[in-house]
Amino acid sequence: MTPYDHSKIEKKWQKYWESKKIFRASDDIKKKKFYSLIEFPYPSGDGLHVGHIRSNTAMDIISHKRRMEGYNVLYPIGWDAFGLPTENYAIKTGIQPAVVTKKNTDTFRRQLKALGFSFDWSREINTTDPKYYKWTQWIFLQFLKKGLAYKKKMAINWCPKCLIGLANEEVVDGGCERCGTPVVQKEKEQWMLAITKYADRLDKDLDDVDFLEKIKIQQRNWIGKSEGAEIEFSLKGDSRKIKVFTTRPDTIFGVTYIALSADHELASLATKGLKAINPATKEEIPVMVTDYVLSDYGTGAVMAVPAHDERDADFAKKHNLPIKEIVLQDKKEMTEKFGKVVTKYKLRDWIFSRQRYWGEPIPVVHCENCGIVPVPEKDLPLKLPKVKNYKPTETGESPLAEISKWVNTKCPNCKGKARRETDTMPNWAGSSWYYLRYVDPKNKKAFASRVNLDHWTPVDWYNGGMEHTTLHLLYSRFWHKFLFDLGLVPTSEPYQKRTSHGLILAKGGAKMSKSVGNVVNPDSIVKAVGADALRVYEMFMGPFDQHIAWDENGIVGTRRFIEKVWKLREKVAAGDKVTIHKTIKKVSEDIENMKFNTAISSLMIAVNDLEKSTSVSRADYSTLLQLFAPFAPHVCEELWVNLGNKKSIFLSTWPSYDSSKITDSVVKVMVQVNGKVRASFEVSPETDEESLKKIALDMPEVKKWTEGKEIKKIISVKGRLVSIVI
Ligand SMILES: [Zn+2]
Ligand SMILES: [Zn+2]
Repeated sequence: MTPYDHSKIEKKWQKYWESKKIFRASDDIKKKKFYSLIEFPYPSGDGLHVGHIRSNTAMDIISHKRRMEGYNVLYPIGWDAFGLPTENYAIKTGIQPAVVTKKNTDTFRRQLKALGFSFDWSREINTTDPKYYKWTQWIFLQFLKKGLAYKKKMAINWCPKCLIGLANEEVVDGGCERCGTPVVQKEKEQWMLAITKYADRLDKDLDDVDFLEKIKIQQRNWIGKSEGAEIEFSLKGDSRKIKVFTTRPDTIFGVTYIALSADHELASLATKGLKAINPATKEEIPVMVTDYVLSDYGTGAVMAVPAHDERDADFAKKHNLPIKEIVLQDKKEMTEKFGKVVTKYKLRDWIFSRQRYWGEPIPVVHCENCGIVPVPEKDLPLKLPKVKNYKPTETGESPLAEISKWVNTKCPNCKGKARRETDTMPNWAGSSWYYLRYVDPKNKKAFASRVNLDHWTPVDWYNGGMEHTTLHLLYSRFWHKFLFDLGLVPTSEPYQKRTSHGLILAKGGAKMSKSVGNVVNPDSIVKAVGADALRVYEMFMGPFDQHIAWDENGIVGTRRFIEKVWKLREKVAAGDKVTIHKTIKKVSEDIENMKFNTAISSLMIAVNDLEKSTSVSRADYSTLLQLFAPFAPHVCEELWVNLGNKKSIFLSTWPSYDSSKITDSVVKVMVQVNGKVRASFEVSPETDEESLKKIALDMPEVKKWTEGKEIKKIISVKGRLVSIVI
């Protein structure tokens, strides 16, 4: 048999799969569908990270298994290509961001193809393509129409040296990420999206989806729903009242002061010795201004119960305020008596504008007569114009503000003078609906046809990073619900199932980073040991949901395992199937539970067992290849065809097992020849007597004694013994 030449084999099958369109999803609505999704990458200049490969391989394995189970599988890919690193690179080099993006996506595409992922490349999308962002802008206009997109004066992070507005993520220890200058707050009008209008449903509907529990908890904490009471406190000598929100109306008898946020409308009065009346005790209590009450949560006022709240107790001790021990009352009764039932959320509306170039232009104009006027839908996409300078202007406006030819326009309404909005959308916009575009990526009349949406959505299984739980994952659920309310998508949730992976760290456990120089380049690994070895390594390196450090020796190990599978081909002969029921069961279940590392372990055990026998049945070898193919697609496809199969292994049927043949306990059976123990083997205690005889006679240690001799008698005892007399 020829030696295992990974480069030749991998290129050969990648070409074959592409030309035969093996992994294209068909829009045939009669077939049962499976939509598997990974977070589409941001095509950075650094190329593909080994961390991308972990998530991609996991969903690739699941997609392959589903294909072999008879599903019509959609496993798409695209580029989330608007964003800061590309823009910063353009500022530095003067190269058009579109040109940089093209170069980076070309690199990513080549790298992903070299890893043999079964993406349907015919559906590739790019958020910076005007044909794509036409629909991002269109969805924004629907938000505007429904009053869910609005402008509000907000304080933003501002670097006085770079003259640039910074996102919160770009502020490091209070300084500008790029130059370290302390960031100041600057008031600016911002576009907002009213995600808070959906807070209740974003929380409640988590009950109906199959997300990892830790993902649900993170989202729920972020949304921060709390039910409580709003209670009014009258003031002494003032007709006004202070409204407080509390989740503990049962402690009202213990309220000894009122705490206000520094910007509460009564704060200045409070510093002069304002008194409120506790409605339960009728006692006069002081009103204090504190720094622990925030103005944007609740009402900016809190009823303080030092006996039942640590923060209140600390403040009370410091300011010599009374601490009153009380008997807790009934919550419901107290709410009815003193307050009204109120639900509050921590979630805030989403700041939806950036003073940046490389983003979707917000499609509105400002007219002197009509105010804010949307760009007519027929005029979309509103294309991002080319500029020479990508640096934001002195005033903090986006560089678009300097292109007067673009900015000065006519009002679509009154035809009078108007200025275009120069803010762009944040980098979370394009990813808020991209999974919908995949189902119909070339549609010119709608973001996707209803027929295709009905067929493919919701996404059946979505894997992605935990760091996106409270941003992308929440934002896209919000957009989806909005589209659902407009009757444009068939379900109220976009993703039926959401799982997450751990990060891949550098050797030693540090974060991989270009500046430290500990980044692993997948290209060199693919060249040296092959894509299959890299894929198997990333699935074998540790539990999928945990962070794990890179280890080169591990790849050597998986490469060796692939070589073993390759060599096992030489042992394939006509013969009886031992049937690896247990392995089929284990690998099938482990894939469903994302326990890829233990799935590979059980394949290793099976290969070791098969190696020990003199020959391997064709059926068993075929099964082994089918189970291993999702992990190592190229080598398994090659070996599969070597067996004489005419069709791709991925068009074969996923192996099934007979559960009655599986038992976890094993017994040791002794083999005697003429009364002397010559060998032993382990089997299930259920193995029948005829099978025991067969196994014993096939063993090399036994054959040594029986070869060329006449067998006079053979008896076997289930679960114990085979005795051969020659
Ligand atoms: Zn700066
Ligand atoms: Zn007008």
